Amino acid sequence: MRKILVSGCLNGRPIRFNSTNVSVESEIWDRWESEGRLVSFCPELAAGFAVPRAPAEIVGSTASVVLQDQGRVEEDNGTDVTDMFVDGAKLAAQQAMAEGCVIAVLTDGSPSCGTTYTYDGAFTGGTRCRHGCHGSASQ
Ligand code: SF4
Repeated sequence: MRKILVSGCLNGRPIRFNSTNVSVESEIWDRWESEGRLVSFCPELAAGFAVPRAPAEIVGSTASVVLQDQGRVEEDNGTDVTDMFVDGAKLAAQQAMAEGCVIAVLTDGSPSCGTTYTYDGAFTGGTRCRHGCHGSASQ
């Protein structure tokens, strides 16, 4: 049975930075869950962050830039937490490979899990798509 890596906060665990979760209402999700195919993982908890924790955003770039050691992730007080976020990404990739995951369903907008967009580092709701284009909080 093929496994699916999923963000840990998508299955009811209140582990986001603000101690909330993200609800999922989907028949296919329910089926995957009943089949035991979901591999739940939180990169930020795996990297050592606590719940709750300070909000963090990728500053002015994208996750791929951060992973190339050309960008950074900061908390809203300016603390550079790039290394912990990179550690979390590596641990997530290791978990996915160890479990044989073939796809991932992740929480968008998160600096760790966002796949189509993340917040832009200004902590004002502005967003940036995965290709680097600037957007707004309405995404
Ligand atoms: S790092 Fe990912 S799994 Fe963890 S709380 Fe944030 S969005 Fe959810």
